[in-house]
Amino acid sequence: MPTDPEIREELVATVRRFVEKDVLPVASDLEHADEFPEDLVATMRDLGLFGVTIPEEHGGLGLDLLTYVAVIEELAAGWMSLTGILNTHVMAANLLKMQGTPEQKEGLLPRMATGELRGCLSLSEPDAGTDTSALKCRATPDGDEYVITGTKTWVTNGTRAGLVALAARTPEGITCFMVEKEPGERSGSITVSRNIPKLGYKGLETVEMSWDGERVPAACVLGGEAGLGRGQHFILSALEVGRINIAARACGVARAAFEAAIRYAQQRETFGKPIAQHQAIQEKLADMATKLEAARLLTRNAAERKDAGERCDVEAGMAKLFASEAAFEIATDAMRIHGGVGYTTELPIERYYRDAPLMIIGEGTNEIQRLVIARGLLARYPLE
Ligand SMILES: Cc1cc2nc3c(=O)[nH]c(=O)nc-3n(C[C@H](O)[C@H](O)[C@H](O)COP(=O)(O)OP(=O)(O)OC[C@H]3O[C@@H](n4cnc5c(N)ncnc54)[C@H](O)[C@@H]3O)c2cc1C
Repeated sequence: MPTDPEIREELVATVRRFVEKDVLPVASDLEHADEFPEDLVATMRDLGLFGVTIPEEHGGLGLDLLTYVAVIEELAAGWMSLTGILNTHVMAANLLKMQGTPEQKEGLLPRMATGELRGCLSLSEPDAGTDTSALKCRATPDGDEYVITGTKTWVTNGTRAGLVALAARTPEGITCFMVEKEPGERSGSITVSRNIPKLGYKGLETVEMSWDGERVPAACVLGGEAGLGRGQHFILSALEVGRINIAARACGVARAAFEAAIRYAQQRETFGKPIAQHQAIQEKLADMATKLEAARLLTRNAAERKDAGERCDVEAGMAKLFASEAAFEIATDAMRIHGGVGYTTELPIERYYRDAPLMIIGEGTNEIQRLVIARGLLARYPLE
């Protein structure tokens, strides 16, 4: 069901106020200190953001993806890392919503909706990023349990999460498991073996995780027995939401960079007039705003298609591809417009510049988006 536009606008306005009042004053300091924003996350929980897309019957707000992308854009315009804290959680919740058994939904979604139980998504491995068919993590059946062994990497929220949506190899192929664990560095035989240092996207952890014979009940198989061997299919479909999220994030970062640039261009004077009056700067501002507008329209279009229950890998791929490249270019242009001060750590421009490239890589690199888009187009235009 599409969300009532008034409800959408109300939530977006609330999130915008939260960003202006609580996020912007502290974002750069927390990011430079690589500090987890406990207080901001507590407010996000109070606002119901961890349950935005979780159905009301499971305790969530039950809002559509179009609302979600608007919320993500607002948060990312304040501090992109906040959207990272939400995204893998929302993807895990979405996997449960779409593929979970009734017991899995009832057991996990209500706690996820409040943010009491936070989710992460663990697909990538040291030798399997783009090439998910190379996954080595193994889940071996043993009675009514599975024994999981392997090394996972790039697990965003991996330490603080209490639920891992894990892709592992079973005799039937790749299977998705929903494994509850204790938040922290160690839980049973699961260990956070390394915290990966990053260029940007700081304040939340991205970790390497070792699974050293962790025993989990067979009830953890997403979708029950019918889900065996279908993990790759499930996760690829969840990635559609992930890519739309990345596109929305890119719009947020790009908007923040553009707005800072257009403000600065009217304040900074050279040769006796504001730099906004120089044609070279005007051309940059025009291009930045045009790219931002196009990115936002592509993002909304993909969200609407997904909300309508249609396959949208082409549209999600286009939105992710275009918006992330646009954010990267807009962040760079914002730095150029700011001149020397844009290169200091005293303004958030350098943060946008460091955060933007992640969107080009995450949820499938842009090289891969092009392949996904082309594959989808070829399927839509078969020869008679
Ligand atoms: C900060 C951060 C957070 C992340 N969080 C998560 C997470 O929470 N969960 C998770 O599972 N993963 C996560 N990832 C992993 C991310 O999804 C992968 O990094 C990404 O899919 C690329 O995989 P890779 O790094 O192994 O690169 P590779 O697959 O090694 O690719 C290297 C280069 O080769 C190119 N390439 C590869 N194959 C092809 C091809 N067939 N054709 C053309 N070009 C190709 C790629 O585009 C890229 O340019 C995260 C990554 C980062 C950086």
